[in-house]
Amino acid sequence: MEKEIKKPWHSLSAEEVIKILKTSSKGLTSEEANKRLKVHGYNEISVKKKSPLQIFLRQFENFLILILIIAALISALLGEIIDSIAIGIVILIMGIMGFLQEYRAEKTIEALKKLMEPVSLVIRDGKEQQIPSKNLVPGDILILSEGDKIPADARLIESYNLEVDESSLTGESVPVAKDANAVLPEDTPVSNRTNMVFAGTYVVRGKGKAVIVETGLTTELGKIAVEVAEAKEEKTPLEVELDYFAKRIGLVILALSAIVFTIYVLIDREQVIHALMASIALAVAAIPEGLPAIATAILALGALRMSKKNALVKRLSAIEALGSVDVICSDKTGTITKGEMTVKVVKFPNSEYSVSGAGYEPHGELKLSNGKHNEADLKFLLEILAAHISTDVKLINKEGKWSIQGSPTEGAALVLSYKGLSPEGVNKAINELKTVKIIPFDRFRKRKTTAHTYQDRYLVVSSGAPEMLLDISFKVRIDGVEKPLTDDIKSNILSEIERLASSGYRTFGVAYKIIEEIPEDDEELEKDLVFLAVLGIVDPPREGVKEAVAMTKKAKIKTVIVTGDHKLTAMAIARMIGLDVSEENVLEGATLEKMSDEELLKVIDNITVFARVTPMHKVRIVRALKSKGYRVAMTGDGVNDAPALKAADVGVAMGIRGTDVAKEAADLILLDDNYATIVEAVKEGRLIWENLKKPINFLLSCNLAEVVAVATSAFAKLPMIFLPIQLLWINVVTDSFPAIALGLEPPEPGLLERPPRKERLINRRKLAYYVFMGLLLGSTTVAFYALLLPKYGVGIARTFVFTGLVLAEIGLALVSRSENNLIFKLPANKKLIWALLGAIILQLIAILPPLNTVFKTEMLPKELLPLLLVFPVVPLVDEIRKKLGIRLS
Ligand code: ADP
Ligand code: MG
Repeated sequence: MEKEIKKPWHSLSAEEVIKILKTSSKGLTSEEANKRLKVHGYNEISVKKKSPLQIFLRQFENFLILILIIAALISALLGEIIDSIAIGIVILIMGIMGFLQEYRAEKTIEALKKLMEPVSLVIRDGKEQQIPSKNLVPGDILILSEGDKIPADARLIESYNLEVDESSLTGESVPVAKDANAVLPEDTPVSNRTNMVFAGTYVVRGKGKAVIVETGLTTELGKIAVEVAEAKEEKTPLEVELDYFAKRIGLVILALSAIVFTIYVLIDREQVIHALMASIALAVAAIPEGLPAIATAILALGALRMSKKNALVKRLSAIEALGSVDVICSDKTGTITKGEMTVKVVKFPNSEYSVSGAGYEPHGELKLSNGKHNEADLKFLLEILAAHISTDVKLINKEGKWSIQGSPTEGAALVLSYKGLSPEGVNKAINELKTVKIIPFDRFRKRKTTAHTYQDRYLVVSSGAPEMLLDISFKVRIDGVEKPLTDDIKSNILSEIERLASSGYRTFGVAYKIIEEIPEDDEELEKDLVFLAVLGIVDPPREGVKEAVAMTKKAKIKTVIVTGDHKLTAMAIARMIGLDVSEENVLEGATLEKMSDEELLKVIDNITVFARVTPMHKVRIVRALKSKGYRVAMTGDGVNDAPALKAADVGVAMGIRGTDVAKEAADLILLDDNYATIVEAVKEGRLIWENLKKPINFLLSCNLAEVVAVATSAFAKLPMIFLPIQLLWINVVTDSFPAIALGLEPPEPGLLERPPRKERLINRRKLAYYVFMGLLLGSTTVAFYALLLPKYGVGIARTFVFTGLVLAEIGLALVSRSENNLIFKLPANKKLIWALLGAIILQLIAILPPLNTVFKTEMLPKELLPLLLVFPVVPLVDEIRKKLGIRLS
């Protein structure tokens, strides 16, 4: 599509823009959109992928490996061709192993990112539909609502109280009010283009429709992104820690290698190249530079496993916090409960109706269950509800299945109108009561208000938390007559509300007033209402939540309900899912508001339910819990929840109900919005964390053993204990199968029955443990070497300790399966058995023909074979430590 215009989009009217882009308010056809996609390309800002070749080559960027290659080349020049080819091949194998780890991690992370690909609500083919944001094209009509991330630059065509947070683009943190009707001078700067919305910014309030004008790199954001060089990929704190640690250990090993080199050169000046190769091989084999990659692979694979259980981890580093969560603060509605609501009770001051039917199916009956018939008020209620709710909510029938689009609470009320009025009645009410104003529901006011034409006057309808509506009402409608709201009547209504709430009903009040003119001021509009009725809405707990709560109890994780709902409703639901709550375990938003931080700290340990809270309270709750030393997971879905999600150790956003803003702020996204999924994720988090420690413990102990063996034998002026290729091979054998299999251990018994643990991956005690293990294995190896040397000669002694060390490390792999549990108490890990068999086969390759000549090994005499069994048994001393209950952290 040619762009003939010279004028910038904001200087044109919405109609002109629509015309230029050859679209309409019904949107593009899919066919046209596909054509445009070919012309404009995907709506994305450069996604550079690392090619497999790049990942492969990166494995050899290591300085030490380069030196080793050079040393191998030099020794080839000096005539030891087979030797250097063999070393080359082993390095290649190590490179391939490193590549496989990293490639797998990369692929997994990519797969996770795919799951997080954003979608946008767009009109295409005349229908509203969710489309992957990257497929958007100029001419698409976007529908914007609170919390949406704007996917492309677009010219507004409709806006209602629309406010956009453009800080990501302009740095301005105050939301900008937008106006579809504005037509602006051509030279208006981006920050003042109030008739446009821009990619990467967020709707914080209101609603709107806009036609996309620019996508991908031609958006304002895209232009900046091209200017600013691509941001480097951030490392997770965990990777940073491991990097740091690998480097520190690396330095020690380098120093030891240098000493070993010096000693060998001093022993035999002729052998400089050999000594050099030996010490570099030691450094290459023993420096754990592969650790961060292994850790990332384990985290990424764990994250992928979690995603299959509907928990999407956005940052791999969140897994650590997840595994040590002590308090889960969860929304009630839709997370602990099903969030599919049905009105069951309609309560007027003098009469009560019960409603039959389930879900959103608009079939059911309203039957008088108490008091006297009140046809007129009932009809009035249903009609004004129809008009009031249909401004935001639609009832949809798809292949016989009824669902709603919009807020479930309001949906339930709309379905009630359908049940009582029939579809014709609902449509008639909507047509007669034309909407003139909407103040949407928000979590602070806890109500929604609309205004409609009403004969020659106006009707104002408010719905929301009933006791709060009562506070702004001054009259009440009883049997068709508006009467003053006396204290008596008020307390009667309040006790009815409490009665409904204590049986677990979500309460929803409706009030109205009829006025001559619509006031400018919103507060004025919501004043002096006439209270009409309370609806009791059922929203039962989800299946599996009770079990999940029971599990958290065992795992010493506290579940706290944080809800905007009535305290009694919340308490009733809390009891249904097995939480013990009484009055003193409940704190209401209004009370919290009055408390100082110190006072909150004093009581917070006792609180299980926070009721009638606003999103700002959530931040205070998180902060208070954190300052008590808890690791806190907090759920959220709305725009206003973002600060609390960020403040929490693990911010949890709802995948279905959640806004883009909440998802962006979160660490974890629940694809099914389910509380039980959080618990599942915590469980996985603990497992992943445990499985991360195992290969690390294993590899560091192994590497130290190798270093100790080489260094002590050099100090003792014994002939070189391992040849370079043998050292490298030991590394291949242990870093491959056993290390990977240790990362895949099944959960240890008691994983969920113990309190959450907060620990660093590596600490002093562990370090001491690695050194101890290293000394033990290393000195055993050297002792055997020294003993066998005089009788059997270097060839056999070397082959013996070469094989022995591999066997010792296999034993070490076994004890590394658990930090605190004895091996025989662990569930079987078949993968590890195969891995250890694999390791043994790799070792056999090195000591049996035909490759024994390459590895310079010799056949071991029969009488030595039983002695080899000593090696795998040595690491088992660790079992004594476990038995004695000496902990590593
Ligand atoms: P929760 O924490 O349970 O999700 P909400 O903040 O959604 O609580 O709701 C709190 C109260 O506000 C409800 O009890 C209900 O009375 C009222 N309410 C909820 N949603 C709406 C809505 N869309 N319109 C009017 N009132 C609502
Ligand atoms: Mg809610």
